[in-house]
Amino acid sequence: MEAKQVFKNMSPYTPGKQIEDVKKELGLSKIIKLASNENPFGYSEKVRESIPNMLDGLEIYPDGYAKALREELALHLGVKEEQLTFGSGSDEVVDILCRTYLEKGTNTIMATPTFPQYKHNALIQGAEIIEVPLINGYHDLPSMLNAVNQETKIVWLCSPNNPTGSLIPKGELIHFLEGCPANVLVVLDEAYYEYIDRDKNPNSVSLLDKYPNLVILRTFSKAYGLANLRVGYGIASVEITKFLNITRGPFNTTTISQLSALTAIKDTDFLEHTYNENMTNKLKFMDFCNEAGLKYYDSEANFLFVKLPTSGDQLFDYLLKNGFIVRSGEALGHPKGVRITIGSSENMEELQTLIKNYLATV
Ligand SMILES: *Cc1c(COP(=O)(O)O)cnc(C)c1O
Repeated sequence: MEAKQVFKNMSPYTPGKQIEDVKKELGLSKIIKLASNENPFGYSEKVRESIPNMLDGLEIYPDGYAKALREELALHLGVKEEQLTFGSGSDEVVDILCRTYLEKGTNTIMATPTFPQYKHNALIQGAEIIEVPLINGYHDLPSMLNAVNQETKIVWLCSPNNPTGSLIPKGELIHFLEGCPANVLVVLDEAYYEYIDRDKNPNSVSLLDKYPNLVILRTFSKAYGLANLRVGYGIASVEITKFLNITRGPFNTTTISQLSALTAIKDTDFLEHTYNENMTNKLKFMDFCNEAGLKYYDSEANFLFVKLPTSGDQLFDYLLKNGFIVRSGEALGHPKGVRITIGSSENMEELQTLIKNYLATV
């Protein structure tokens, strides 16, 4: 049986290393994973306390419309309930967007390097991919706008961008939306929204009324620390959302994940703690890099992409042997560097000592 032609050049997503596998492989007892931008402080205690109360009714299908979560989130964001599309992580909303708008004969525009799932899902739908290189970690918005043509259906803007961490400034975002034809969807992926410096917050939701071709993606996987429960969402016009909810599988989020997300929204203390710790530890890590002569990209996320004199794989291997998993730039389209998730202050101090030792050997 032959799959679609495009599968000849595609492979499954290679995830960051699993903690248990690395422990076994290297005989280590402790492993710190700073590879997938997960929350180093776990998740809300209120969610932990509420999960045992969610165990009744697992034989019953969940509410596919996620009514309770929808109401709470609409209130939280100041949008209509009919503007939300939930997915099994925002990963799934990316796929839903591709299945709704892309097909053979259309094209889609994105930065490179950026989050790989835009390209992956668009290819499966048979769309042509147009990649526009970043400039010093930032989206090259003028060139992206120039690339738009009659066949363009979606432009992906990842802000803060994964893997560089750079934020599209609000003024530039608005300029782009002004210039972009109204029949081209602009998908603004804000997976790291909650980590953005409050003074630089683009307040993207407030742009939805003026730019009905804007779609915003957010998730409970990153700052809320619920990556395992798989809840992400899209915010868009009522019209776009109608189509997305036709494409969406009928039961794509579970009751446990919906109620956990709902509980997580209300625990503002946990989010505040996460935000503050990340900010402090990121600034300390930047100071360390400055002293060590390492360059990095500007980051408004919970990770820093550090540029290296050596290959990313070499530092990755060294850190792995010493109990730290980071993400080598090799796998992210930027070989001479590593993407490091900002961990707890304790973990970061240990990591910094290791990096210092490594640099002394190269
Ligand atoms: C992590 C991430 C996502 C997807 O997260 P989900 O767990 O699927 O919600 C989406 N976009 C970017 C840029 C990410 O880094």
